[in-house]
Amino acid sequence: MDDLFGTLERWVRVASWSRDPAGVRRMVASLTPLFRSLGACVDLVSLDPWNTWDEDGRAVRVAVGPALWAVKRPMAPVQVLLVAHADTALPLAAPPERGTHRGRPTLRGVGALDAKGGIAVAWEALRRFEAGDLPEPAVGWGVWIAPDEELGSPASAPLLVSRAARYGAALVFEPSHPDGALVSDRTGSGNFTVVVHGRRAHAGRNPDEGRNAVHALAAFVVELERWAEDTPGVRVNVGEIRGGEAVNVIPERAVARWNVRCRDPLDVQRFSQGLTRIHARIEARYDVRLEVHGEFGRPPRRLDDRTLALYERLAECAGRIGRSLRWAPSGGVSDANLLSAAGVACADGLGPRGDGMHTPEEWVDLHSLEERIELVTEFLRTLNAACRAGGRSPGAVP
Ligand SMILES: [Zn+2]
Repeated sequence: MDDLFGTLERWVRVASWSRDPAGVRRMVASLTPLFRSLGACVDLVSLDPWNTWDEDGRAVRVAVGPALWAVKRPMAPVQVLLVAHADTALPLAAPPERGTHRGRPTLRGVGALDAKGGIAVAWEALRRFEAGDLPEPAVGWGVWIAPDEELGSPASAPLLVSRAARYGAALVFEPSHPDGALVSDRTGSGNFTVVVHGRRAHAGRNPDEGRNAVHALAAFVVELERWAEDTPGVRVNVGEIRGGEAVNVIPERAVARWNVRCRDPLDVQRFSQGLTRIHARIEARYDVRLEVHGEFGRPPRRLDDRTLALYERLAECAGRIGRSLRWAPSGGVSDANLLSAAGVACADGLGPRGDGMHTPEEWVDLHSLEERIELVTEFLRTLNAACRAGGRSPGAVP
């Protein structure tokens, strides 16, 4: 395990903020020889830049690093996909540091837990599995390491979803809950931008010729908030707003950006209907034009029967190695939202334990890596037995 801790520490030293494509490339490139050493076919997959809107409401294209894609035994009758991400939510602030928390060894650093610790679990579990005495046919596996998960996987999502379709089950190595529970349901999340186009005019000389974009935007934000208050289970956070040039000029442009979260898949549609109504009302009342951009990049995730069966199988595996396993919902989002929406049975939160995600104080409990590695290795061995017995989909194996 000391080797693995050292490897994780080296990975954390590689700055791989999502918005630093060169750093993300260095990080995924450093993983390539590891998965090759397991006999997998490994590719770094270049992704197209993604389209978004900046704080002034202008369309911009943002580059991301490459994804890592590794495949082993693609013709085997039982296939499992392991998913993690190489990017971090923050730029690296300080080098990683060893310490302790309640007497257990820790590693502190951006990405140590989310999700480089998860990559370490996936890699070591596969290494132990492949080092075992494997019968033929053995289970086949794929590994997907995303470069843009912390941005909502805007560039990598379509490829992940299309490649995942052939896998009977997916394991997502996001951090577990602090008590070791897997993550079950997740909220959905969408990011949106509205640009209000009014008409500039002198505030004193010809105000009637102006159309005040800031006034219209303020009314829009109030209506959006009121809609969310009246819709249980939905939260809207208008996080950015800007507009106007000077107090004696009627502003012609104003921009707001918000995030919306919900638990019920039907709320995605309710939100879009509510937004359409507010849009039309504000345009009519203020005689302005509104441009709304954005989408639910992460649909809400709820466990269906196949997914629940996968969690139960993992709990059985935990029982066989003398541990118990539970699962609980989370307000965060991950690539599991995408996989579930695409109908792939997928378990989430298979990464290690720790705390401080998305802060410079992020840390991982190093001993929790071993707990997870044992669980995932046992799961792969169980699948292998099922594979020999006739090759059923892991989501369906009782
Ligand atoms: Zn993450």
